Order: sequence, then structure tokens, then C-alpha cells
Amino acid sequence: MKKLIAANWKMYKTPPQAMQTAHDLVNALKEKTFCDKEIVVFPPFTDIYAVVHATSGSGVKVGGQNCYPEIEGAFTGEISPSMLFSAGCSYVLAGHSERRRIFGEQNDFIAKKIASALQAKLSVVLCVGETLEEREAGYLEAVLKKQIEEGTSDAVPANPAMFSIAYEPVWAIGTGKVAGLPEIEEAHGIIRNILQNRFAESFAEMRILYGGSVKPENAGAIMKCANVDGLLVGGASLQAESFVQIICA
Ligand code: PEP
Repeated sequence: MKKLIAANWKMYKTPPQAMQTAHDLVNALKEKTFCDKEIVVFPPFTDIYAVVHATSGSGVKVGGQNCYPEIEGAFTGEISPSMLFSAGCSYVLAGHSERRRIFGEQNDFIAKKIASALQAKLSVVLCVGETLEEREAGYLEAVLKKQIEEGTSDAVPANPAMFSIAYEPVWAIGTGKVAGLPEIEEAHGIIRNILQNRFAESFAEMRILYGGSVKPENAGAIMKCANVDGLLVGGASLQAESFVQIICA
């Protein structure tokens, strides 16, 4: 199972800026003689075309940050999984905490997106994680279980390699606060158990990424933690140089 290192560009970069960063990333990776990791960039929708072209032939994959569960229709402002696929994406994010918190997305809606995305042959990264209040109240396991079980209630991925979880403690996203290594190992162990109960034997092939203020300085230690199969990187992925340092950490 290859490690997966993903860049979430959130709502940053115009198409020319995205094209430049993607070119810088591809060129920097060419200089690395040995990189056996799977790399995915999640740009804003308007940058997908530019990034697909800039990364063409490089092995770097592209994903959508969001999707709407229907195939097409009168859903002004939305993008379907098949549109993402046809635009050159092979991945989509689901349930990012910013979508849960700012846009009020609930697990049942996220489940529909995941089912639709898998149907459209997109690999899915389901983001889960607790708030500080939930952690302090002792609800870590309950929150993760609910988000994973309800988020996957509409579909069982036929190919486990096409379904990953990103553990992103809400209090560590964009805050500069990184979860401690024991906290990361604990949460990833809990998630592995939840996947085992939910998906039986295919659980071992599902990757569990860590996300939350990952930087070149902490990426190497996080990647050595048990059950950490990759990283989802926000702020530090916006510059090709720091993202490549994380990839190679
Ligand atoms: C994210 O957006 O998923 C994320 C982890 O952001 P950051 O690395 O900036 O905390």
C-alpha cells in the first residue's frame, strides 16, 4: 500500500497561480530520484483544468475538494462526481471540517456524496475529527465512529484502496497546533478498529491520513506513527517547496 500525501489548496490560487505551483511541484519531484508515494492535489474547481494539464504525465493526481451527489440537474453552483472525473480528477474530499462547520454538512449528506463519488470511479478521502470540546469531554471514539459509520452508510467501497480516511482534529486545522504523536497514534488506532468492524477484511488496505498543521519540520515524525498511511496538508502545501519537503520527509 503506497503512502498518500495530499495537498488541500482550499480557496487559494487563481488558475495562473495554480498552474505555476503545479509546474513547480512537478519539476521539484523530477529531481527526486526515488519517490514511491502517491501524491494528490485538491485545487479549487476553477483551477482543476490548469492543474490537470500542468501535472499531465507526472503521476501527480488531481482531486475535487467537494461534490454534489447527483449526476446532473438543476443544482445551481454544484459540481457532480462525474464532472470531476471527466475533468481529469481521480479523487474527491468528503466531510472536511470546514464544510461541516461553515456549510452545515451532516453525515447523511456526506454519505450520499461518497456513494455517488465511488459510483463515478473517484477515490474518496473522508475527513473526520473531533472538536476540542468533544475531546475534552471524552467523546473522541464516539465522534470518529459516528462520522465514519454514518458517512459510509450508503456505500461500501468495492476497492478498499479507493477509500481513505483523513483524521483531522478540528482544533489542529490551520491553527498551528499539531496533535502530539501519542494522540495521533491513539486516534489512528481507534479509526483502524472502526474500519475493521465496518468493512471486515478490507479494513487493512484503507489508508488513514493525518491532517492538521503538518509542516516540513513535523511530517517525518508523524509519518513514522503506527497506522499513519499518509498526510493531508493545507497551508504548507500552497508552496511547492514546502510540500515537496513534506513528501520527502
Ligand atoms: C486541511 O485543510 O485539511 C488542513 C489540514 O489544513 P492545515 O494543514 O493548514 O492545518
